[in-house]
Amino acid sequence: MGANRHMSVDSRGRYTPEATGEAMPGSEGPTGSRSHNLLSTRRASLMQEPVLVLNATYEPINVTAVRRAMVLMLKGVAQAEEMHNTEVHSAAHAHKVPSVIRLLAYRHIPQQSRALSRKNILLRDRNMCQFCVRVFPSSELTLDHVVPRSRGGRSTWENLVACCYRCNNSKGDRTPEEAGLKLARRPRPFTLHTSRQLMRLIGHRDERWRKYLFY
Ligand SMILES: [Zn+2]
Repeated sequence: MGANRHMSVDSRGRYTPEATGEAMPGSEGPTGSRSHNLLSTRRASLMQEPVLVLNATYEPINVTAVRRAMVLMLKGVAQAEEMHNTEVHSAAHAHKVPSVIRLLAYRHIPQQSRALSRKNILLRDRNMCQFCVRVFPSSELTLDHVVPRSRGGRSTWENLVACCYRCNNSKGDRTPEEAGLKLARRPRPFTLHTSRQLMRLIGHRDERWRKYLFY
């Protein structure tokens, strides 16, 4: 790990801090938009780098962006636990860039606080068609009702999966069994466990995250 180690955003573009930040602590509450001017910087990409958010108990609960993390720190909601060897400059100050922050007050996290949405289902399935097991850009994926709606299938976490258009067409109005297709895995609600798995994947690039994630 050199002093100038640079972290790049996932080149496949399958992760944005906003995507996993939705409906999770560290992303809710005041948006802090008024504080953004304080942090105005030309290094916009650095400000979008992922930051691991820990609960007051050091339990990892979320991933957010550097910009958001610094707003939480300025507001006194969170403190930095790990820093990058980089600074960003506002008009008058140099700010160290956090890699891991911790909330100062404990937040209760509901087990299944995730909204059922196309975005979150693609996130859960990691943009992988659950029938042909290939990864696609979001724009080339649709949501498939495993048990078709015409057969009483509901729009739930357990009955919706990411699906490429080709598999979706070949499946048509049939169950996977009828269409000769097999699900890569049984669809489950997006739980905190799933979030942690995602955080592990994202955090693989940043050694500073390891001691909080691999326990
Ligand atoms: Zn497919």
